Amino acid sequence: MNFQYWNEKIEKMARVDLNALQLQKLKTEIGYALRTSFYKERLIKAGIQSPDDIKTLDDLNKIPFTTKDDLRDGFPYGFLSIPKEEVIRLHASSGTTGIPTTIYFNKDDIKNWADYMARCIYATGSTKEDVFQNMITYGLFTGGLGFHQGGEEVGMLVIPAGAGNTSRQFKMMQDYGTTVLHATPSFLLHLETKMKEAGIARESLHLKRAFAGAEPYSEDTRKRIEALLKVDVYNSYGLSEMNGPGVAFECQCKDGLHIWEDGYIAEIVNPDTLLPVKNGETGELVLTILCREATPILRYRTRDLTSFYTEQCACGRTHRRLKRITGRSDDMLIINGVNVFPSQIEEVIMGMKEVGNNYLIVVEKDGALDKLIVKTEVSEGIFMDDSRSLNAIKERIRETLQASISINPKVELHEKGTLPVSEGKAVRVNDTRPKDV
Ligand code: AMP
Ligand code: ZN
Repeated sequence: MNFQYWNEKIEKMARVDLNALQLQKLKTEIGYALRTSFYKERLIKAGIQSPDDIKTLDDLNKIPFTTKDDLRDGFPYGFLSIPKEEVIRLHASSGTTGIPTTIYFNKDDIKNWADYMARCIYATGSTKEDVFQNMITYGLFTGGLGFHQGGEEVGMLVIPAGAGNTSRQFKMMQDYGTTVLHATPSFLLHLETKMKEAGIARESLHLKRAFAGAEPYSEDTRKRIEALLKVDVYNSYGLSEMNGPGVAFECQCKDGLHIWEDGYIAEIVNPDTLLPVKNGETGELVLTILCREATPILRYRTRDLTSFYTEQCACGRTHRRLKRITGRSDDMLIINGVNVFPSQIEEVIMGMKEVGNNYLIVVEKDGALDKLIVKTEVSEGIFMDDSRSLNAIKERIRETLQASISINPKVELHEKGTLPVSEGKAVRVNDTRPKDV
């Protein structure tokens, strides 16, 4: 295979040099962190008053973990390390409590992010000859603009297609001769179904490869998309707290995701003991960003479960590879790429007087896409034979939920006392999607 490197010197850097670079960048990042109100207190408490208190990479262990709750507590500006007038953009992801986790960028941060993204895209063999259709949500979500900038950095022709609307997507693919796609794996599968329905011949398209991420999927799903759409599929991993996409990506070997270790320090810990797992064992990924000034985040508990490959990749890159993410150490659901915590749903429905005491969240497959069904009991005094008012209640729950979690659920109403009650801890979520990861 003919490998190509966006930044060969860094991508193939010897481990000792990579570690030295990490240490130097960590110290810089600690300097940024000490300027934020949140970390100033934390770091001083941990005995770190200045970047020079970090002497080796092991000193990272002195720093407490950062969680999503910390980010919320620091909302809106507790993690900001630069004057507001230097900030040029923010991205945010929805949260359990309605407080979004918000990340700020200065000009260099955006440039760095675009550069890491370009590195990912280039590692898949894509070049400026490619036409790149970015079929993911633009806006506060990082997937749209993140890939967009990276594609432009590589010099590809980028089509900011956005998510959804399959017939428009096919039209663009045909009109502009799209060669590379980016979408969630479920949307890629859905696309194939729609392609058949619309009678579009695969030969009329010029597709070569697709980037798929934002949600977990299995090797079987990758193979299925590859066979159906006749493209090479590359796994893309990222999270808003660490800029978004561009954290880890598959190279042409399609065997594990290289995590860019000059941009992120990756640790894998046991989610219960929070101690490092043995190399190669599965645990929770903890990340420290080394490539952003405006919002430094140290030792962030991603809640994503994965492990490191122990061998080096055949492509020659020295940056370690992560296995496909197999799940999470919390209860966050990812529904068609959108993150949602059961507690967000509970908060909405329990605030409505028509809703009784018991509810059940069901997630299932509807063709290739995910479907959310919220089943609730109605409160006393609501009669199941009054279909007009039941429909009105259903619609109100649906609308309120959609406004809060950005997912359009199906709502089912049940008579009081009819939904199953478990004897022990309430089981509120029934996720019936096949777990073939
Ligand atoms: P967000 O902050 O909205 O971009 O969501 C980030 C989360 O999406 C991650 O913490 C993962 O749980 C999930 N995610 C993103 N990319 C992947 C991927 N390739 N495989 C599995 N899960 C992913
Ligand atoms: Zn590789």
